[in-house]
Amino acid sequence: MSQAAATDSAVYKTLLESTRAIPWKIDWKTMTFAYIGPQIETLLGWSQASWVSAEDWAARMHPEDRERVVGFCVSQSQNGVDHEADYRALTAAGDYVWIRDVVHVVRDDNGEVDALIGFMFDISERKKTEEQLLTLQKQLEEYSYKDGLTGVANRRMFDTVLASEWANAQRSQQPLSLILLDIDHFKQYNDHYGHVQGDDCLKSVGQALSLAVNRPRDFVGRFGGEEFVLVLPETDEAAARHIAERCRQQVRQQRIAHERSSVSSLLTISLGVGSIVPGAHDRSLDFLNAVDKLLYQAKQRGRDRLEVAGMTAQSPGGDAADARA
Ligand code: GH3
Ligand code: MG
Ligand code: MG
Repeated sequence: MSQAAATDSAVYKTLLESTRAIPWKIDWKTMTFAYIGPQIETLLGWSQASWVSAEDWAARMHPEDRERVVGFCVSQSQNGVDHEADYRALTAAGDYVWIRDVVHVVRDDNGEVDALIGFMFDISERKKTEEQLLTLQKQLEEYSYKDGLTGVANRRMFDTVLASEWANAQRSQQPLSLILLDIDHFKQYNDHYGHVQGDDCLKSVGQALSLAVNRPRDFVGRFGGEEFVLVLPETDEAAARHIAERCRQQVRQQRIAHERSSVSSLLTISLGVGSIVPGAHDRSLDFLNAVDKLLYQAKQRGRDRLEVAGMTAQSPGGDAADARA
């Protein structure tokens, strides 16, 4: 080697071994390491000399990543394609570090694969950020359909569920029931116990209502303020009355003191309960308004009670309407 070439090579070596990325080279025929940067020991704790064959590389990989990564890298290399792989590398201390391996396939004069050279990058920080982003995204999805205070579904979700269950009921001609309920004298509750306790009270009511239903498609949501709503598919008037009564009992069983209520010394609710087999041209909004009227009646007639009605469809049902169309 000439003096100049020797100087160049020393410069390259210094450059390679002072970067944070870890350079390596594997001889393809023998599947052994021709070189690996000394930085590997700082990152993973395994000495430079302990990296002998490609098997050492595979063995020091998280078992859940091994098959996928080794299979991918071998097939890409066989096809002579440069590639990248992310995996968890085992440290000498028994932990794992996320690594991105960027691999370049070197061919000889005949075009045969001769060697693989690459860089390993420590991407633990990036992975941590990615995981945090995923968690945040999940939370955001939850926030978009959950009421932040009570944990039951929010108004937006109710609108979506009512629309879809309304269409289901129109198609199947099965009864759909709706319960609208409102806490009695909640204004006095807030005035007397304060808004913070008022909020706690709303949480308890949300929990109590969730206990009153048990079918997977039964829906409990916060309609707004201190009003809640239940959507009960394939539930007739008698069954809906039963569930509404259970709601009333569950709230009572929370035994929330309400000294200022003229109805009872414990917190109570009033409920409107409606049931319908909707016709093809009936609108869910009319049904909702009719149930709201029942809730108003329950208030008028003394609170801590339910008003129930079966509603009749204003237009013919799905199949009949289709036949006429
Ligand atoms: P009624 O028996 O006729 O329903 O009487 P009410 O006092 O419950 O009815 P009104 O609609 O007059 O009052 C509802 C109260 O609910 C007023 C409002 O301050 C309270 N409220 C609504 N949303 C919240 C909330 O998120 N937190 C708390 N603490 N209070 C709320
Ligand atoms: Mg109200
Ligand atoms: Mg109220």
